[in-house]
Amino acid sequence: MNSPDAKKQKLQCGDGSDGQINVADTGEFSFSDKPTLDDIRKVQHEFCKERNWDQFHTPRNILLAMVGEVGEVSELFQWRGEVKEGLPDWSEKDKKHLAQELSDVLIYLVRLSERCHIDLPAAALEKIEMNKKKYPAHVVYGSSKKYSEYDLKE
Ligand SMILES: [Mg+2]
Repeated sequence: MNSPDAKKQKLQCGDGSDGQINVADTGEFSFSDKPTLDDIRKVQHEFCKERNWDQFHTPRNILLAMVGEVGEVSELFQWRGEVKEGLPDWSEKDKKHLAQELSDVLIYLVRLSERCHIDLPAAALEKIEMNKKKYPAHVVYGSSKKYSEYDLKE
């Protein structure tokens, strides 16, 4: 979203309610509105069906494939030392390669969620809500400690 106005994005929540989430445009990096995760799920579902690959796409097999792709992402960062936000020191070729490997991870994550019947976008929002309770901003602000290291009774 690149307009200067704050926008509201309507998201379908896993509990069946229509969640209204305020998405303020801060000028920070953002993704395109489309495709949604479900769009990606559908395209990949069709891709696999056309090739008769569902028989191979058991949850375990997809998980192992995804872990392999995470390894391919890791290889791109290996031996570079710390990397700056936005990858200003990377070549366009390396950035393209990273985009492809991150996409492989996402596609397998979406496929794994589908094969496990997990509503991933809804589950992700629910998990973020859980994390907000686990890491109250007023307690953890500016700290990287694990949740077990805080006194949450404050
Ligand atoms: Mg790959």
